[in-house]
Amino acid sequence: MEQLWRQICPQIREAIGEDEFQVWVRPLRVDPFVSSRLVLVAPNKFFRDWVQEKYSSLIQEALQGIDNATNFKLVVSPQPPLPRSGRAVLPTTDAPAEARIYRTNLNIRHTFDNFVVGKYNQFSHAASQAVAHEPAQHYNPLFIYGGTGLGKTHLINAIGNHIVEHSGLTVYYVSSEVFTNELISAIRFKSLNEFREKYRYVDTLLVDDIQFIAGREAIQEEFFHTFNTLYESRRQIVMTSDMFPKEIPGLEDRLRSRFEWGLIADMSIPDDETKVAILQKKAEEEHIPLPKDVAFFLASHSGSNIRALEGYLVRLSAYASFTGRTFNLELAQDVLKDLVRVPLVSLDSVQKEVSDYFRVTIKGLCSPKKSQAIAWPRQVAMYLCRKLTNASLKEIGQAFGGKDHSTVVHAVNKIRSCLESGDSRSGEILTLDQRLTKQSSRG
Ligand code: ADP
Ligand code: MG
Repeated sequence: MEQLWRQICPQIREAIGEDEFQVWVRPLRVDPFVSSRLVLVAPNKFFRDWVQEKYSSLIQEALQGIDNATNFKLVVSPQPPLPRSGRAVLPTTDAPAEARIYRTNLNIRHTFDNFVVGKYNQFSHAASQAVAHEPAQHYNPLFIYGGTGLGKTHLINAIGNHIVEHSGLTVYYVSSEVFTNELISAIRFKSLNEFREKYRYVDTLLVDDIQFIAGREAIQEEFFHTFNTLYESRRQIVMTSDMFPKEIPGLEDRLRSRFEWGLIADMSIPDDETKVAILQKKAEEEHIPLPKDVAFFLASHSGSNIRALEGYLVRLSAYASFTGRTFNLELAQDVLKDLVRVPLVSLDSVQKEVSDYFRVTIKGLCSPKKSQAIAWPRQVAMYLCRKLTNASLKEIGQAFGGKDHSTVVHAVNKIRSCLESGDSRSGEILTLDQRLTKQSSRG
């Protein structure tokens, strides 16, 4: 397999260029213990995911070009690579930790200790803490709402890990997709009793991304009974979702109302300072020497997705370490110029999206009318223009029928404080923000 890999490397190098080859392909190692197919070992998970996304079809193609074509698999190295900073290698087997993962399905790396609290997640963090300290006492169910990559999975795991460490209660973490798959196979293999035993006798049930159960009748039916059984016996239920219960299409009413019984804790959009703090924490954990100006650059040039932000950091550090370049602002600007978000959103597209969403006309947005029905959409639109485009306050004012720049400042501040206070309307702002951001990244 080693030989096979050496044979196809030149082809990959040619396809992606020397630089990328050195950074992403060279560090892959062939697993010498597998001979049935090519197993490539990546130094870490981020690396594996990156290679998988960017290069797997290329590698597959190269393999197909060879006699006795085989397929390949990418795995993560079980042994952390020797760090450049000389960090001691962590033990890879930790018996109690493994037992916990096995019993609870929790990700033990997601804890409250390494969760950074900022204005945007203060509320959901506090609610999670309350539930973790005294399960089934305060908010049941706890429903954590927030956009993609904002830390919902981290938070729900932190709750679970805290409960396991501080009480004798049992905990089970599951994504609604896994719940669905397990139910389907329980039906097929006639093992529904076991399935129910597992889900209905646990003290704390954590369901990640609950929105995915919507639209499937049998799954919702089963979850409904699971929910009721747990709720009636005063067991804690925590769910996360990237939509509010009332926004989840195809969700049965009886479930929707139950999801709203306890507390809905939402997250807004992280401000740059919190993003910097998260980056610093991550850098510290990974022993990456992160200069402050680089952290600010990454924070201010990325969207609200923390996962993407972390990805940039890891990519930069990998690049610096493989090329021997100094980890500084210049390197960051160089490496990430194609990746970080360049504002492509225009004032027009914001106005159009907002007017569609609120069913008001663009003319109305630009009029001097002050009724709440039009003032709110206008303020949202001004805020989004400020956040997503390069336009100055003055230009934004002009685009809205020649309004003064102080009107724009007022609108921006108003929406900001709405987001910060977790106002019930934050959801619609967030939705619009995401739609526009998505459009611009597609464009
Ligand atoms: P979601 O489930 O909302 O899509 P995740 O919980 O998977 O997001 O978060 C994405 C990544 O960002 C994870 O690696 C997580 O640890 C990290 N992260 C998100 N929010 C924070 C935070 N406040 N502090 C530290 N890390 C965070
Ligand atoms: Mg998640």
